[in-house]
Amino acid sequence: MNYSLSEEQEMIKPYSLTEEQEMIRQSIRRFAQEKVAPLAAEIEETGHYPDELVQMMNQQGIMGLPYETKYNGGGGNLLTMCVGMEELAKVCANTAMVPVTQELGAMPIVVGGSEEQKQSYLPQIASGQSRISFALTEPDAGSDVASMRTKADFDGRNYIINGVKRFISYADIADEMCVFAKTDTSKGAKGVSAFVVDKKTPGITIGKKENKMGFRGFSSCEVYFENVVVPAENRLGEEGDGFKIAMKTLDKTRPLVGVIGVGLAQGALDAAIAYTKERKQFGQSISQFQGLQWMMADMAMQIEAARQLVYKSASVIDQGEPGGAMYGAMAKCYATDVAMKVTMDAVQLLGGVGYMKEFPTERYFRQAKLLQIVEGTNQIQRVVIAHQLLK
Ligand SMILES: Cc1cc2nc3c(=O)[nH]c(=O)nc-3n(C[C@H](O)[C@H](O)[C@H](O)COP(=O)(O)OP(=O)(O)OC[C@H]3O[C@@H](n4cnc5c(N)ncnc54)[C@H](O)[C@@H]3O)c2cc1C
Repeated sequence: MNYSLSEEQEMIKPYSLTEEQEMIRQSIRRFAQEKVAPLAAEIEETGHYPDELVQMMNQQGIMGLPYETKYNGGGGNLLTMCVGMEELAKVCANTAMVPVTQELGAMPIVVGGSEEQKQSYLPQIASGQSRISFALTEPDAGSDVASMRTKADFDGRNYIINGVKRFISYADIADEMCVFAKTDTSKGAKGVSAFVVDKKTPGITIGKKENKMGFRGFSSCEVYFENVVVPAENRLGEEGDGFKIAMKTLDKTRPLVGVIGVGLAQGALDAAIAYTKERKQFGQSISQFQGLQWMMADMAMQIEAARQLVYKSASVIDQGEPGGAMYGAMAKCYATDVAMKVTMDAVQLLGGVGYMKEFPTERYFRQAKLLQIVEGTNQIQRVVIAHQLLK
């Protein structure tokens, strides 16, 4: 049976970028090209992310862009973030990950925190003074989040957290973590609660930094919790709200993973076009071969379709229009599948040098793979979309 848009979805307004969003794009593009691009290859190669770049992003207001002005943020929305992050990802996806992962860590507070909790955490997060991680995944609970084993037992005043989290981005440098743990192991998803945990709390140990295939400019670590005492006032929402908070968070942040895919893909296509114009074989520039031209045309079409879907999803979520979760899943899934395909084709367009570290295409290709996995694999995005279709 064909899926037909519901009346509500037909009413979704078209989006357009404001003058301010265009200005933000230009300003972040300049910053990306002048300050970030020269360091992109080195960041990936050494796995060291320079603190000076984070400081520059703080000064430029990039870290604070999505937070409300009352929390010292830039007052931007998800669409503004998408526009800005695309520019960073085009030259250095490791750099786009810094504000994007910060927003992932902060979003549970935004969607589930009290006003007092927001006042207490968000200003430092928006100014970049405090870094925050999102700690959901566990060794035995990846896609099946509700099967998590980390427990938070209430002793009348505090929660005592025990368990292990895996692949937690920036866990080694974070000041705080949003941690999801079971307060009632008999209730499945409804037994999960969310907490803001100060990383200096005794009992927290950060495991080794994973040795990743790509995105080597940011760390991913295991985190061990052993009798970690967390005050009750650090719980977000009510007991049992944690799963809902985690899902609402991911609904709002998935377009950002999608837009990193768009930026990566555009960066790879730009590099491929430049190379094919210069490279000569059979007495002519290889860009003159129709076989390659059609590849480039397909890549450009796919990138533009992905960009429009990502921007649209961000706008739907910003406006609180119906279908935000489905649009977010579609945008993340489609744009990151496009990123994988386009970056692979970009390597092909460069031939042998496309496989070498002297050219950026191999980096884009390795990085694109991660985007199909994080914040819910692309199989899980399809589960989310199908669930909406079959409701
Ligand atoms: C570099 C990196 C950084 C990360 N950062 C964070 C972070 O900061 N915080 C955090 O909490 N997590 C983080 N993650 C975890 C990430 O979100 C998970 O890896 C992801 O959700 C998949 O879980 P998994 O790896 O356990 O795979 P699994 O769930 O074991 O999946 C294995 C395969 O089975 C498929 N599969 C599973 N269930 C289904 C189903 N129902 N239908 C069809 N196919 C299915 C998956 O799509 C996948 O192909 C990070 C991961 C990586 C690699």
